[in-house]
Amino acid sequence: MSFSDLGLLPELLRAVADKGYDTPSPIQAQAIPAVLSGRDVLAGAQTGTGKTAGFILPILQRLVADTAHGTSRAPRALVLTPTRELAAQVAESARSYGKYLQLHTYQVFGGVSINPQISNLRSGCDVLVATPGRLLDLAQQRCVDLSKIQVLVLDEADRMLDMGFINDIRKIIRLLPQKRQNLLFSATYSDDIRGLAERLLHDPLSIQVAPRNAAIELVEQCAYRVQKEQKRHLLVHLIQEGQWHQVLIFTRTKHGANRLTQQLEGAGIKAAAIHGNKSQAARVKALDMFKRGQVTALVATEVAARGLDIKELPQVVNYELPNVPEDYVHRIGRTGRAGAAGEAVSLVSGDEAGLLRDIERVLKRSIPVLQTPPFKIVESAPLPAGQGNRSGERPGADRPQGQGRPPHNGNSHGNRGSDRRDTRRGPAQGARGQGQQQRGRFN
Ligand code: AMP
Repeated sequence: MSFSDLGLLPELLRAVADKGYDTPSPIQAQAIPAVLSGRDVLAGAQTGTGKTAGFILPILQRLVADTAHGTSRAPRALVLTPTRELAAQVAESARSYGKYLQLHTYQVFGGVSINPQISNLRSGCDVLVATPGRLLDLAQQRCVDLSKIQVLVLDEADRMLDMGFINDIRKIIRLLPQKRQNLLFSATYSDDIRGLAERLLHDPLSIQVAPRNAAIELVEQCAYRVQKEQKRHLLVHLIQEGQWHQVLIFTRTKHGANRLTQQLEGAGIKAAAIHGNKSQAARVKALDMFKRGQVTALVATEVAARGLDIKELPQVVNYELPNVPEDYVHRIGRTGRAGAAGEAVSLVSGDEAGLLRDIERVLKRSIPVLQTPPFKIVESAPLPAGQGNRSGERPGADRPQGQGRPPHNGNSHGNRGSDRRDTRRGPAQGARGQGQQQRGRFN
């Protein structure tokens, strides 16, 4: 099948061809005709499946065909996304797919000044991409007219619910016309999503694209067992020994992301953090530097990384395992995209053994636990009295064994996979306590 079989306008086909896409992805092949026909859609699809074009292309086409709106410049399509990054990416997609059409897309999200958004909205747009909180602010200040919306998209609806946006979404929906087309995209189907879909959608076409397993097959996954406090040392070792040039690292907390960034920098690895406490400008800058290769390690929290479209990312590290197994799938979905192989490495401490099992249950496969390579323990620089642990590392200062730290180098591994050797990375160097094992902490 080709894009021209889907009934798209020549202007859209041209824009798709400019991107170099010749074959619609499975979600696109199903969603595009359904959306063009005006049907509601419930789609189980994750980032990386091509879902954005799956809804944006037919929406643009419907807006072009709609000539009844006269001179009104109020938005006619609304896409709600959980994060600013995803909003910016969806808007960018809409602009690039719509570049041969006379349609205008605008995005609004929190974390940046509201005033320019107000003035931009005044000049009007056809497609509005928004995060729920900011959109509601704008609506409450009467700076946006949602009464002309014909198509509503909830993108990554599961994530929006996880982030507590349900009330904002309900309030926004009340501001929309009753008669409209609704598209709901969600990576997972919780009871909450099912409930939302039942209330929102009318006779929807349900589309379920293979839960990324096809893509996940391309990702080489492995785990190392390592004590929590030694993860950073192992990570530095993996980055340096593997000569990784672009690695996305997931931490659970914003504070953890900042701390790890400093620690990596201290070890001579160029790193930047991306999380909700960073200004939009700082996030864009960090992402940009990462994409350009000026930063080796981008340390991100789950939410901040959501929707990041970084092509063919070679390495993803789960510095901490996610509590929700599906998030693991999202995370590793950052790598091995568009047919390129990638590698996802998880650093698993003893208290995370259960989380690893949960992930394996969801994946329906086991993640090989490789023998943890010997790695250097590099001592932190002493902190001035009364300060938190925010210092970097003193490169090259090997920790004398047995001083204040557990007397092993993280080279612990459980039963599973303990006979497996990581032959991909070659011999580790400069290790202390090589071969030491600590049994019994992991199960
Ligand atoms: P998405 O799932 O919408 O985040 O898209 C994931 C990535 O796939 C983006 O980089 C798109 O530009 C790319 N993409 C979308 N559709 C296609 C296609 N039909 N063929 C190849 N790449 C695509």
